[in-house]
Amino acid sequence: HAKATGRNAMVEYFPELDIAMLRRREIEARMRDAMRDQEFETVFQPITSPQNKKIVGFEALLRLYGNDGAPIPPSEFIPIAEESGMIEQIGAFILRDAVLNAKAWPEDVFVSVNLSPAQFKRGDLVSLVADTLQELDFPARRLEFEVTEGLLMADEQRVSDQLVGLKQMGISIAMDDFGTGYSSLGYLWKYSFDKLKIDRVFLEGFDFDKNRYGQIIETIVTLGHKMGMKVTVEGIETQGHQEMLDHLDCDQYQGFHFGKPMPADQALRALAGMTAESSSDTQ
Ligand code: C2E
Ligand code: MG
Ligand code: MG
Ligand code: MG
Repeated sequence: HAKATGRNAMVEYFPELDIAMLRRREIEARMRDAMRDQEFETVFQPITSPQNKKIVGFEALLRLYGNDGAPIPPSEFIPIAEESGMIEQIGAFILRDAVLNAKAWPEDVFVSVNLSPAQFKRGDLVSLVADTLQELDFPARRLEFEVTEGLLMADEQRVSDQLVGLKQMGISIAMDDFGTGYSSLGYLWKYSFDKLKIDRVFLEGFDFDKNRYGQIIETIVTLGHKMGMKVTVEGIETQGHQEMLDHLDCDQYQGFHFGKPMPADQALRALAGMTAESSSDTQ
């Protein structure tokens, strides 16, 4: 095909494909360098109590910057890390970094780390986590993992065994982004998660249809509680969001209204002041 139409056929006929491939390779290279040079950053977003708005935990989130200094969003680099196998190394890094930082926090403040389905593939996740916690002398009850529905759709027994292994260590498991995928109730029952994190799409919906989306959120909170889970609402951006939620019985709040993801030193200062107001993230 390329021969028939000349050397630049790909560029002429599939420019977007070519650009996507270049971008992918660039990000892969950037991730390798960042891993080697310890340039991945972990930022921490406060999770607060609905009652007194105090910080009860932080979600650890990865940050990566391109050679030009521009942020590369996790939504772009995480899938590439998953496909290239680099997520193993990156996942081990953020777990370690999150725990190291959480050690400086009060004992009742938890840290939450996102896990990719790819991290369940090799089968050594439970021992990796156990070794890390033991080496860093960090109690499992202060660690939470967030998984998404995508995890539950493949290789069920293998995934299930590893989730049980993590839970048996005392780590709590949260279903992240609830409401964006299939939101299968069957999966929720089967895996008995400790926490349900309601995706921020519902608060986005609330901005243009308060009645409808208020009802949906209330229903999910009730559902979570009936299934024995704690319920966290994500993406709380405004006072209006908070006021609507304050009428419900949520367990935890998370969103820019309470604090953006922030570097570790700032998270520590936020804890000292016990307000989550400061924010500095680029998004
Ligand atoms: P997530 O786990 O659902 O994390 C929450 C995302 O929502 C974060 O985006 C956070 O900055 C953003 N967010 C929080 N509050 C608000 C708000 O009030 N408004 C808006 N508009 N956004 C808010 P971020 O850091 O860009 O991460 C995006 C996704 O990338 C994460 O979604 C998670 O799925 C993935 N991710 C990030 N770090 C990691 C990691 O270390 N490992 C894995 N496997 N995935 C990660
Ligand atoms: Mg998450
Ligand atoms: Mg989430
Ligand atoms: Mg989300």
